[in-house]
Order: sequence, then C-alpha cells, then structure tokens
Amino acid sequence: MFGMKADWSLEVFERYFTIGDYAGGEARWCPGCGDHGILTAVQKILRDEQVPPERTVAVSGIGCSSRMPHYLGTFGFHGLHGRALPIACGIKSRRPELDVWVATGDGDCFSIGTAHWIHAIRYNMDMTLMVFDNGVYGLTKAQTSPTSPLGFKTNTHPGGAILPPHNPLTVTLGITNASFVAQVVDWSPPLMYEVLKAAHRHRGTGFVRIIQRCPVYADSLSKAMQSDPSKVLLLHHEKGIPIDPAVKRQFPNQIEHDPSNLSAARDVAQNDTLIPVGLLYQNPDAICYETLSSQGIEFTTKRRLAGLNAALDRFTI
Ligand code: SF4
Ligand code: MG
Repeated sequence: MFGMKADWSLEVFERYFTIGDYAGGEARWCPGCGDHGILTAVQKILRDEQVPPERTVAVSGIGCSSRMPHYLGTFGFHGLHGRALPIACGIKSRRPELDVWVATGDGDCFSIGTAHWIHAIRYNMDMTLMVFDNGVYGLTKAQTSPTSPLGFKTNTHPGGAILPPHNPLTVTLGITNASFVAQVVDWSPPLMYEVLKAAHRHRGTGFVRIIQRCPVYADSLSKAMQSDPSKVLLLHHEKGIPIDPAVKRQFPNQIEHDPSNLSAARDVAQNDTLIPVGLLYQNPDAICYETLSSQGIEFTTKRRLAGLNAALDRFTI
C-alpha cells in the first residue's frame, strides 16, 4: 500500500462523559426557579468527576425539588413524601459502590421527613444530601413550611407565620456523627458548585442546605437576601472550600472559619442575623454505617446458608 504499514488495530477510547450524558427529561420547574441552577451544578460535578451515569442514583421524596431524578440521565427513585433518606440509605446499604444523591426540600426533609433526617445524619452513609430550601411548600402552592420566616404570609397562615423558623444548621450540627454541614444560596453558582463538589467528595453524608429562590410563592424571601449581600456571611479557611474571587466580591461580609471546629460551627449557625455560606463543619473521620452494614454482602447464598445453619446449630439440644 504505497509503502505504508497497514494498522488494523482499533483504537479503543476511554469513555468520556459530557453534560449531555447526565441530561434527563426537560426540566419543568417555573422560569427563574433556583432549582434549574442546582440541577446544572450537579450535572457539571458529575461530568467533571467523570462519574459513570449507570453508577449514579438520584433519590427524592415529594415536592418541587423532588422532580430532580426525572431531569438527570442517571438511575433515579422518586419516592414518597419525606422518605428520600430511608430509600437512599437502603440503596447505599446494599450497593455501597453507587454514587447516591438525595434531592429533598424544606417541607420534605425538615417536616414529614424529620426523623429520617436525624437518623440519616447519624448513620453518615456516603451520599450527597441536598436540601432545596425555599421557605415554603411550593408544589402544593404556598403553605407555611418549617423554615418560613415569622410573619411570612401563606395559604395556611394568611396573617403571617406565627412561629419563628426552624434552624436546619443548628439541628444538623447537634446530631451525633454529623460529618459535613454546609450552606449556600442558589444565586451564587460558583460557590454552589464548589460546595456541592466538596460534599460529593466527602466520605460520609454531605449535608448542604441550599437557600433556593421560589419566584412564584416566596419571591420576597430571596429578594430580601439578594438585595442586601451584607446579610450573607461568607466562610473561608484553608481547610474549607476554594473561594472564587468573584464570590468574594459578591459577598463582602466574610470571616475565617475553621471547619474542623464543631463548637465554632455551632456558633456560626446560631447567628440568626446573618446567613452563613460555605463549609461550617467537616469531620472526614466519622464512621460510615455502610462500612459496617455491608460486610458480607458479597457472600454467595450457599455461604450465607452455611453461616445461618452454623449459628442455629449452636442451639441444638
Ligand atoms: Fe420552583 Fe417555586 Fe415553581 Fe416550585 S413553585 S418550581 S419551587 S418556582
Ligand atoms: Mg419548600
């Protein structure tokens, strides 16, 4: 062949995943809803970390946020109200190699799902837990949620919410074995990306409360925060999240906060005049439940049966 050496070998390329590989159905959230940006951040992280879509599972409960699994081109489980976490823990317990993302909301997680939230944080299974917190029940058209601010008018409290809101950060930081607690606002995409990426890389439950815009039923809440960036307190530290210079310009109110200091994290979380964003707390050495619970899952049925019989034989009279 004109002196050229014929090479019949096929070059096999490693798989490279693009954003399109993580795209599911067309997102049907309202225009301007903060959920769109959260979805984009998750897809970018999956792409940047090159997580195979077939090794990824998105799990949700009920609410606007819980539509997330439909919009990701991965495995998904759209569960029952408040039940995203027990489903996610079940998946992780039997299939610890899977990359599990949980999408839940303030109503789903902090109200009907409260018990699961508390126990899932203690179990500390290796998953990313995103709470889309818009301060209202959006899917059912504006009822008071556990994080609706005092005086916020809704269908259930037309005269305004009558109790001060729940503080998800102080609660989470009070749970035994909590290992990663962070907060972001959805209108800072670079910070949200970095925080979610850190939560995803963290071994344990990466709890991220995302303060999320709902322009339809809670527009005034996010507008109040967006119009006055000094209400936001940016946390930075060499052990924390890398902060983009644009984020530093966006939030001039900043403090150095060591995320390995639990008591300092609790102090930051307790401050109800400022909204901390960034990493509040991280303990990379906390125990993960699946490390213990998944022992022996690779055993064959025969071996399990032999073990069971051996155990029963101990009771032979
Ligand atoms: Fe988003 Fe609110 Fe619309 Fe739900 S109701 S999709 S939270 S803007
Ligand atoms: Mg909500």
